[in-house]
Amino acid sequence: KPSLSVKDLHVSIEEKEILKGFGIDVKGGEIHAIMGPNGTGKSTLASALMGHPNYEVTSGEATFNGEDLFEMEVDERARAGLFLAMQYPSEVSGVTNADFIRSAMNADRSEDDQVSLMQFIRKIDDKMGMLEIDQSFQHRYLNEGFSGGEKKRNEILQLLMLEPKIAILDEIDSGLDIDALKVVAKGINELRSDDFGCMIITHYQRLLNYIQPDYVHVMMQGRIVKSGGPELAQKLEEQGYDWIKEELGIED
Ligand code: ADP
Ligand code: MG
Ligand code: MG
Repeated sequence: KPSLSVKDLHVSIEEKEILKGFGIDVKGGEIHAIMGPNGTGKSTLASALMGHPNYEVTSGEATFNGEDLFEMEVDERARAGLFLAMQYPSEVSGVTNADFIRSAMNADRSEDDQVSLMQFIRKIDDKMGMLEIDQSFQHRYLNEGFSGGEKKRNEILQLLMLEPKIAILDEIDSGLDIDALKVVAKGINELRSDDFGCMIITHYQRLLNYIQPDYVHVMMQGRIVKSGGPELAQKLEEQGYDWIKEELGIED
């Protein structure tokens, strides 16, 4: 089973410590939701794990399938099966969406095991149909001129095409209407298996109405302060975060 294990992670941006002892274990077959108020370091966590150069890991460790994640090159992490969908995906000019996905699919395959054009087309047609994505998407440049909702669907398309081992989805639900939300949830649910683990970072509980997480973690001030099952997300929806702050004596 794939695994991502993070222990006592400390991360700084411009000398300011944002993550202060974050830890989590994600294994194949598990969906973890990470929730928390704005500014607690959720996106910082995602960026640090993917190796964004502005985020300095000052201490702690992370292993991906037993290997030291921070010793792996950034593209190596993706090729090994770690997938990150960003809160603010970048636009890349001059590469069509289909080309991007196909080269990413082939990047971790040996020369005689490349995905053929026919196989690729069959698969992308199938997934685009499922996600109710327009055919013209394939030929558009990556994320260029995509609306917020289109970017999110496109990330789920990439997810379904690449079939990563562990995915980190940062605010994949932000700005989506209910129909788009259901489509995104359907895509993630389709991947559920022992060979796939997922960390869903979200501010709101509503996505979790459609994707039942196995674990829910609350993040505050750079670390997980409370963990539970789906009922914890429900309680956060009803009562907000203040009761946790009071319970733990956290001030902000
Ligand atoms: P969340 O995703 O939980 O809303 P972020 O990880 O985006 O939180 O931000 C955590 C903290 O780090 C915030 O105080 C934010 O202002 C700060 N921060 C995030 N990105 C940067 C950056 N590029 N430069 C400086 N500070 C940043
Ligand atoms: Mg934020
Ligand atoms: Mg964020």
